[in-house]
Amino acid sequence: MYDLVIIGGGPGGLTAGIYAQRANLKTVLLEKMGIGGQICMSDVIENYPGFKSINGIDLMKLFEEQARALGLEVKFAEVTKVLDKGTHKEVVTSEETIAAKAVIISTGARPRRLGVAGEAELIGRGVSFCATCDGFFFKGREVAVIGGGDAALKEGLFLCKIAKKVHLIHRRDAFRAEKITQDKAIADPNFEFHLNKVVDEIKGDAMGVQGLLLSDTVTGKKEDLKVDGVFVFVGISPNTTFTDVEKDDYGFIKTDRLLMTSAMGVFAIGDCRDTPLRQVATAVGDGAFAAFEAQRYVESLGE
Ligand code: NAP
Repeated sequence: MYDLVIIGGGPGGLTAGIYAQRANLKTVLLEKMGIGGQICMSDVIENYPGFKSINGIDLMKLFEEQARALGLEVKFAEVTKVLDKGTHKEVVTSEETIAAKAVIISTGARPRRLGVAGEAELIGRGVSFCATCDGFFFKGREVAVIGGGDAALKEGLFLCKIAKKVHLIHRRDAFRAEKITQDKAIADPNFEFHLNKVVDEIKGDAMGVQGLLLSDTVTGKKEDLKVDGVFVFVGISPNTTFTDVEKDDYGFIKTDRLLMTSAMGVFAIGDCRDTPLRQVATAVGDGAFAAFEAQRYVESLGE
């Protein structure tokens, strides 16, 4: 019987692991793919205090080193179910069933798709959800970035250093991204903005993406835009289908002010929970707080 199972090894999960180890909780962290989570897709992080500028993978390596140095046990397995057995929980994985007194869910989120014609068929042939992974293939070519949030503008700025031109397609005329990022994007001569435009279709063939069919949301006018690659950054979907705890309409887990879910002793942190701000800094805060609350919960069981 573990005191605590942490599901997911991104910034929140690793922070919870560090705090749980220091609180002497018998803890295991379960991770499906690789330690680090979505932030590993970010080229530069400039708003995590203590680091003026750091690459996502490099930052997560430091988190992992610190957690492992404290003796955190890490297992690689996919969680398929969390069962509430009253006095304890059972975390069912692809490999085994693990019993624990408390659980912290920190499974993060994945990129949302546009859902237009051509998108699914052209993934890996010009349609991408990760600029740092695939940007290199478009050196000196023209690409489109879809979206107006932090991810679209930040990843677009990264692509501006590689591509000949980056066409930013956004469905409104105002951006959701942080003001400082907006200012940088507007000042970059490699960005060309196409505002009040939506993508109707991504065109291409076996050789790859050839262009986009766009619609103007104000005039309804259609136009073709020739690009070699399309980077989609239209938000995120939470990785929460394995759990039955209460969620909002989009699948983000609802928590109370102590970060506990609708199931006693099951906490949710970071991007997978219903929260207005999804940053490394907020995931770290959630992780510290949930580990502290998990410790209090385990102690309250008095076993
Ligand atoms: P986001 O903030 O939800 O922005 C999604 C963008 O895509 C919005 O501009 C939205 O338009 C647009 N969009 C959504 N559905 C669309 C559709 N079907 N067609 C066209 N456009 C569509 O998502 P995100 O940028 O992926 O960021 C997710 C979270 O991570 C946010 O909390 C963000 O702050 C955080 N993040 C932070 C950083 C950082 O370094 N600070 C970097 C990346 C992400 P509308 O604006 O019209 O809704």
